[in-house]
Amino acid sequence: MTDVARYTLPDGREFAVPDPYYLASCDACGWVGSSEECGTDYWGDCGDVFCPKCYSDGADCGQVAETAVMEPRND
Ligand SMILES: [Zn+2]
Repeated sequence: MTDVARYTLPDGREFAVPDPYYLASCDACGWVGSSEECGTDYWGDCGDVFCPKCYSDGADCGQVAETAVMEPRND
């Protein structure tokens, strides 16, 4: 069984993100979702996580995702 973390944004939107991914968001276009959906590159010192919608990088530290509250599983 996969561990799923649930995130709630201040505006009420909820996202379920399976382990080991995390909630990502894009400051450029507003996309929010699991980091599973993001592209990454690893040819630099560290991988850039980029938005699957507009391909801007920095989705791993998007401002929207940082406002989300992660809820513990309670099942
Ligand atoms: Zn984007």
